[in-house]
Amino acid sequence: MRIRGLEVLDLRFPTSRTNAGRDAVHLDPDYSAAYVILRTDGGLEGHGLTFTIGRGNEVCAAAIDAFRHLVVGQRLSDITEDFAGYWRRLASDSQLRWLGPEKGVIHLALAAIVNAVWDLYAKSERKPVWKLLADMTPRQIVSCIDFRYITDALTADEALEILERQARTKADREAELLRSGYPAYTTSVGWMGYSDERIRALCREAIAEGFTHFKVKVGGRPEDDRRRVRLVREEIGRDRTLMVDANQQWDVAEAIARVGDLASFNPWWIEEPTSPDDVLGHATIAKAVRELGIGVATGEHCANRIIFKQLLQARAVDFCQIDSCRLGGVNENLAVILLAAKFGIPVCPHAGGVGLCEYVQHLSMFDYIAVAGTMEGRVIEYVDHLHEHFEDPVVIRRGRYVAPTRPGYSITIREASRLEYRYPDGEVWLEKV
Ligand SMILES: [Mg+2]
Repeated sequence: MRIRGLEVLDLRFPTSRTNAGRDAVHLDPDYSAAYVILRTDGGLEGHGLTFTIGRGNEVCAAAIDAFRHLVVGQRLSDITEDFAGYWRRLASDSQLRWLGPEKGVIHLALAAIVNAVWDLYAKSERKPVWKLLADMTPRQIVSCIDFRYITDALTADEALEILERQARTKADREAELLRSGYPAYTTSVGWMGYSDERIRALCREAIAEGFTHFKVKVGGRPEDDRRRVRLVREEIGRDRTLMVDANQQWDVAEAIARVGDLASFNPWWIEEPTSPDDVLGHATIAKAVRELGIGVATGEHCANRIIFKQLLQARAVDFCQIDSCRLGGVNENLAVILLAAKFGIPVCPHAGGVGLCEYVQHLSMFDYIAVAGTMEGRVIEYVDHLHEHFEDPVVIRRGRYVAPTRPGYSITIREASRLEYRYPDGEVWLEKV
């Protein structure tokens, strides 16, 4: 099977009209996808996307198109037989790498393509991506990873050892996953633009739906943060878990003070307290807030496996928040999942956005079966927006992700939605003008 065509779409959903997704830093997100369709001579299509929040999505789409010479004409089996080599060719194209390397728009674009290849691969094997990964031998998994720049923290042999430790008992965990799903937490109760009444109502709804973990956006005025966090704590009671997320709002000392200010509400973690590039700043914050029993979570804006490596080496994070398309697709996520396992840090993926819940469920399910061997202390983010646009949307039952069974990466957006939300000429955007 050969890839014969690459189509790129700029899709945008006008979520800013309802304040969905609003936090301290991103005031008016229109959840968007730079969307790729790989067409093959066999008739199968591979779909992939990378996530942005509106303006500039066209830049991502253009960057995806810049990889065309490395995609069209490729045979799928040639890619998958040396997946790490193919990933390296994309990430280290001798001219494109100047735009990164391995960060920013060009890396987001790479992720869309890599994920589309995995969708195609999984469909050709008639398995969902999590199952395709879970069925691979430790050696096959390791052969998908480019270990360049991380061997000081994790070698291929060490990765192999981690995977081999879990290999014999994979079937038991797969059965458990199919039986009980994977724990989720909800971010949908605590967006910044919501009224107190709305937050209370959403908390009650989420409790009725079986959620046990709730995240609230902070980083606004101190008194507002305190009021909103108190309100959620009141609604969910002492026994459920609360997390707070500052979306990079604070400087280091400010973060320590502001988290201290919220400590009496007993948050499990503070997410993105400061700049995502500030490894040592995260380490300073983590050291201070751990004394209060609070962990540091970050990752949705970590550009690549090297930054994750440093965060782990510096003991700067307590929760590793991989992102399916900020990192360079499945392959680089495998590297970070194994790095986290080496350092004993739980992986709790970021999934606020469009399509990210659909994506990351596969990565966490693989992590459970083949790497971590446990779901203990691990949760996948869940937001309840935009799932209706997907052909194979996530299913949440009693606050847990149900394992998808359809072949592929669950990321195909329905054709009618692709037409309606295409920017700037889809119906939903023409209406606005
Ligand atoms: Mg976040």
